[in-house]
Amino acid sequence: MTQKRRIFFYDSKPYDQRVFDAANQKYGFDIQYFDGHLTAKTASLSKDSHVVCAFVNDSIDKHNINILKKSGIELIALRSAGYNNVDLKAAYKNIHVVRVPAYSPHAVAEHAMALIMTLNRKTHRAYYRTRDGNFSINGFLGFDMYGKTLGVLGTGKIGKCLIDIALGFGMKVLAYDKYPDSVYAEKDNVQYVSLEKLYEKSDIISLHCPLSKETYHLINKKSIAQMKKGVFIINTSRGKIIETESLIHGLKEKQVGAAGLDVYEEESQYFFEDFSSEMISDDTLARLLTFPNVLVTSHQGFFTREALKNIAQTTLQNIQDFYQGKYLENEICYHCGADASECKKNQKKRCF
Ligand code: NAD
Repeated sequence: MTQKRRIFFYDSKPYDQRVFDAANQKYGFDIQYFDGHLTAKTASLSKDSHVVCAFVNDSIDKHNINILKKSGIELIALRSAGYNNVDLKAAYKNIHVVRVPAYSPHAVAEHAMALIMTLNRKTHRAYYRTRDGNFSINGFLGFDMYGKTLGVLGTGKIGKCLIDIALGFGMKVLAYDKYPDSVYAEKDNVQYVSLEKLYEKSDIISLHCPLSKETYHLINKKSIAQMKKGVFIINTSRGKIIETESLIHGLKEKQVGAAGLDVYEEESQYFFEDFSSEMISDDTLARLLTFPNVLVTSHQGFFTREALKNIAQTTLQNIQDFYQGKYLENEICYHCGADASECKKNQKKRCF
């Protein structure tokens, strides 16, 4: 029965197809790959399918959900952990939404540390200098990570992985979470503090909370002014957590010493695509790219072999569970935004 289900796969890239085709040998779904985003214009393309598989820059708003529903789509299977691009209120009682809550927190945490290390020791610039026969080290002065303070905002799966890495470097860790983990707080060298204290005391601040109404533009002119002069700000979470104009202001004033950005407020137009033969019309992104102490990567934190394999496996398993009428462990709860297992853990009433 499941063999005949058709999945319309938005924003597909060659690496997605390779990994999903391999994983699908076990499931036998009919996967229709489409390289465009899910938008108001493309939503109806899925009309002969049962499931839509979407990624971080697909727009799953009320309008598009209505089109999908009318087209007969029964399930939206996100192949991401974040779901800020889904209007859950509009999906509620219309279309079920599942996600991949964890595929490799290590992948993202390791990428966050790679951004920190690159910005600190300037290896991105050294690479070009030595290839050009320039062996000067002027301008590359960094600092020891040992003994520095890392502020981790959001101590979920990824935040905790980064903390483990930082402790390996001999760093001190300050943490802030809306829902602090009391067991984790017992860990040596990790201290939960207020947001204000984290801003004030951290040499490096790394963002690992989800994008929500509360965290939208959390990093703004006011919060940046509360930070240590020369602070490194690292964002591998979601672009809209940082108000980019304020970050640019902070960089120009040297209040911000460096920024490592795997995500960007308006990334959907550019990230994952090749614009190397064109002009960048987004002046804010273009300005960011002029700073030697800003490193922008194109939402590649998740991009490891292990993570891709887990994403494909969990996404297809979610779809199979749905059609076999099984309990959907990875369905997103409309009320609290948690997945089903967390809902159970928090003993919250489930909404579906
Ligand atoms: P998680 O759910 O395990 O952890 C998120 C943590 O943030 C939780 O501990 C939660 O209590 C906390 N939190 C929620 N609201 C908060 C608030 N207002 N202030 C402070 N903390 C708050 O999620 P995760 O797997 O660690 O992922 C974190 C984020 O990373 C995701 O939401 C996603 O946006 C992003 N992500 C990025 C990539 C990438 O490729 N760059 C890949 C996966 C996930």
